[in-house]
Amino acid sequence: MALSGIEIFKHLPKTNCKDCGFPTCLAFAMKLAAKQASLEDCPHASDEAKEFLGAASAPPVKKVVIGAGDSAWALGEETVLFRHDKKFVNPSAYAIEVADNDPELEAKLKGIAAFKVDRVGEDYGANLVAIRDASGDPGTFAAAVGKAVSAAPRVGIVLASQKPEVVEAGLGAAEGKNPLVYGANKENLDALVPLVKGKAVLVVSADNLDELSELAEKASAAGASDLILDPMAANAREAVERLTQIRRLAIKKNYKPFGYPLLMDARHEDPQVEAALATVGTMKYASVILLSELRSWEMLGLLTGRLNIYTDPQKPMQVDQKIYEIGSVNADSPLIVTTNFALTYFIVAGEIENSKVATRLAVQDVEGLSVLTAWAAGKFTAGKIAEFIKESGVGDQISKKEVILPGYVSVLSGALEDKLGDGWKVVVGPREANQIPQFLKARAAA
Ligand code: SF4
Repeated sequence: MALSGIEIFKHLPKTNCKDCGFPTCLAFAMKLAAKQASLEDCPHASDEAKEFLGAASAPPVKKVVIGAGDSAWALGEETVLFRHDKKFVNPSAYAIEVADNDPELEAKLKGIAAFKVDRVGEDYGANLVAIRDASGDPGTFAAAVGKAVSAAPRVGIVLASQKPEVVEAGLGAAEGKNPLVYGANKENLDALVPLVKGKAVLVVSADNLDELSELAEKASAAGASDLILDPMAANAREAVERLTQIRRLAIKKNYKPFGYPLLMDARHEDPQVEAALATVGTMKYASVILLSELRSWEMLGLLTGRLNIYTDPQKPMQVDQKIYEIGSVNADSPLIVTTNFALTYFIVAGEIENSKVATRLAVQDVEGLSVLTAWAAGKFTAGKIAEFIKESGVGDQISKKEVILPGYVSVLSGALEDKLGDGWKVVVGPREANQIPQFLKARAAA
């Protein structure tokens, strides 16, 4: 049974040291009870407290890892229904389906392996390839799984078959890869559980929640502890209703049979409906989303949406404070200053690259805020910019001490020139990043 904040508090050190990020042990205990904090955040908890509080602090949705090595992808571990309550922890995995007897199997596998999207400096792609048992033949299925393992080593494997003999053949071909077996139902559960134990994660499917709960309990009792639940939603309305109901019961009622990551089969004959279904799944708790094929336009939207949903809303994405050299800079290259909000950095850096004018970009640490927000918060001030520019030593690398300020904070130009002193000149740059190429080219030509 879940412990109250007061019961948890009794087992904490009561020193109010704040190392957990909360002002008091009681505040931390309350957050633990609400599943909005992890006991690991208190470095001073005794072993006894850890043991006693372990169950109370365990996330209501179990962490399940699919894949192994480079293809490992963690799912679940969620503690809240709404991301603004704390954050969503482990992003959804997108699985691209390929039939085991598809004549274009190898080309499709290569395409899935090679697909990537660059977003704020990181590469993202498909997480899983789902080999569908279309042939009904264990040998054909195992051969297709083997090809997937070698063609896409950084992508996890889904063995999409309900036939135990086909699953067994696929498991042999994916040995050590910790694949996802999709899946078990009331007819084949007893046969599949012994096959997957210690080797694979099992997807349990049922089209009503009572049956899904029973099957999850049965699989867990039989030793298949890593499960994914598939409520078999037939459309977007059912998906939202069923996925929300399951997640609500897991988080609010600590209902153990539903304390697992969820799967949504978004495949649809209409690609746009499929994209909409997958978007619903990404927003509403699906940890594994099955797609019928790789479409770059669909993945682009899904990956960008997922990045937004699974970003910690309390920690803006940021890059390091330093002078970034874009292109082959020399002493005459211009110097632009901006803030370290990741999106700001990548947009500004991208536009500088587009200009083909080698430029130094001075990125100041303002705790990941954009230019205007940082200025309004008093973190991007003339004094702080001047201090950063001077300490960076960039003045010794350029022939003309001149810094270009974002147009939105032109109000700082006079004060910045005063604070920099030593002959520095401040130039007001464009307000919008997309005006940077024109601005830099005009200066280079002058
Ligand atoms: Fe209390 Fe531990 Fe937080 Fe320190 S880190 S305030 S001891 S709960």
